[in-house]
Amino acid sequence: MIHPHPNPYSPDPKIKVWIDGTLYPADQAKISVWDHGLLYGDGVFEGIRIYNKKIFAVDEHLARLFESAKALKLTLPMSAEELNAAMRETMAANNIIDGYIRLVATRGVGTLGLSTKYTANPSIIIIAASIALYPPELYESGLSLIVSSYVRNHPNAVSPRVKSLNYLNSILAKIEAHMIGAQEAVLLNHMGLISECCGDNIFLVKNRQLYTPDTSAGILAGITRDIVIQLARKRGLTVHEARLVRHDLYAADEIFLTGTAAEIIGATNIDGRQVGNGRPGEITRLLQDDYKKYRTGT
Ligand code: PMP
Repeated sequence: MIHPHPNPYSPDPKIKVWIDGTLYPADQAKISVWDHGLLYGDGVFEGIRIYNKKIFAVDEHLARLFESAKALKLTLPMSAEELNAAMRETMAANNIIDGYIRLVATRGVGTLGLSTKYTANPSIIIIAASIALYPPELYESGLSLIVSSYVRNHPNAVSPRVKSLNYLNSILAKIEAHMIGAQEAVLLNHMGLISECCGDNIFLVKNRQLYTPDTSAGILAGITRDIVIQLARKRGLTVHEARLVRHDLYAADEIFLTGTAAEIIGATNIDGRQVGNGRPGEITRLLQDDYKKYRTGT
């Protein structure tokens, strides 16, 4: 017996998972050991929110999924409309009102060996469940960040614009943050510029203006990031998509992260330096309110 102890993180057996057209109970939701998604991280995914039974920003997520797949020369076996319908079917089968969808496309089953010539039939997996990325207290206190010693993947290696199944660059930075007692890490890119966090984009506020790295810094073009830029501009705030360095974070009045799962969360410490007055800042809180209204359509 390799695992003598029960896994406390086993999925809820009541969850039904959609794999290639069929809904399976969680404990029977399995893919082949020959799938190149497992063997090589060869595939793409999206994390999508469900608010009040609606799939939030679904067109943007599907567009990004197709863009990621195209970059990997992975032809998805379903159209955007079909994926949308399959997500709705999975959401309904799990009675989800507010939750989260993980939409995964793998290269599919193939022989051992990297060549995509010997794979056929990419697989589509849809998990609809709940997610709480950070406990509610952290939205009040703000996150502690470190600047990671890991460098964001070079854009000409696996581009950070591709939401691929290989997240090791982020996972290593996350482990490093946790080892130091921080919750999140900021990765600098190969030029020493700020890129993003492990699974979230980053913004800072200085003199009531917003700054966030532009997509050429090697970031995922976050959908929450785009919405926050729009909401801030609607409020009359200036937003700069800029080249930012570590010092900009140390000198910031406010820092916050954006992402589908985290939504908007303040950071109040960076490499042991307090940010602002040590609480999430005013503009962070205003944008959190705006975002809440935007996502519920009020
Ligand atoms: N950067 C990375 C590396 C991510 O994985 C994500 C998504 N979790 C984001 C940024 C935020 O993107 P979005 O707002 O589209 O969720």
